[in-house]
Amino acid sequence: MELSVMLEYQNLDNALMRLENELRQSQAAKEYTANKNVLNNAQEQVLKQNRDAGEMTSQMEALIAEYETIEKELKEAESAVPDVDSSMGADFFIRNVQKLIARLKVLASEISKMSSKIVELNQNYTATMTAGKEAKKKLTQCRDAYEAEKSKFMPQATELQQKLQELEKGCSEEFLTVYKRLKKIKKLPVIVPLNGYNCGGCFMEVAGDLIVKLSSQPFVECPSCGRILYKD
Ligand SMILES: [Zn+2]
Repeated sequence: MELSVMLEYQNLDNALMRLENELRQSQAAKEYTANKNVLNNAQEQVLKQNRDAGEMTSQMEALIAEYETIEKELKEAESAVPDVDSSMGADFFIRNVQKLIARLKVLASEISKMSSKIVELNQNYTATMTAGKEAKKKLTQCRDAYEAEKSKFMPQATELQQKLQELEKGCSEEFLTVYKRLKKIKKLPVIVPLNGYNCGGCFMEVAGDLIVKLSSQPFVECPSCGRILYKD
């Protein structure tokens, strides 16, 4: 592939990125993105709160079930009092009843704490739902302005995208893979000239054998930063 094709590709791609950036920086896009983030955040919160509510409900059910079981055990123990005649039996009876009462107290306190947590969660849930609804309303309101702004950029962006697709037909698979990988990690500009013996992107010295390769192939990758290097 030709060096000129590579550079043309980068030029057009830069122009497209500038255009996309200009749209992102517009007031309409900023407002739209901000509201979208609030809405996404609220939706995530609702999911989390639903999960928490499910967990708390089953914990509460378990606590209540245990409370009822112990309460029943206590009643049974108490009804067995007349049968106790030895002092050892009485000791055992008292210890057992005390143990059951102590456990009931702990459970009652846990149930009360869990109940407060559930009330708090319900309040948070209501607040999140309100925030979410508000964000959704705002998002709908600013969508039209954003779409209008976007449509101003679209003709030029589409034209650039088409030209890039056309150019890709003349590019090697290797070049496109390296280019797209570097672009994704924002190593920009992706294609840089060799500056004497140094990489024009990271300024590290490039080994002589790589420079020799540049006379027989259109580009080499900088061993330090990975950028696409060409001879000016
Ligand atoms: Zn480099």
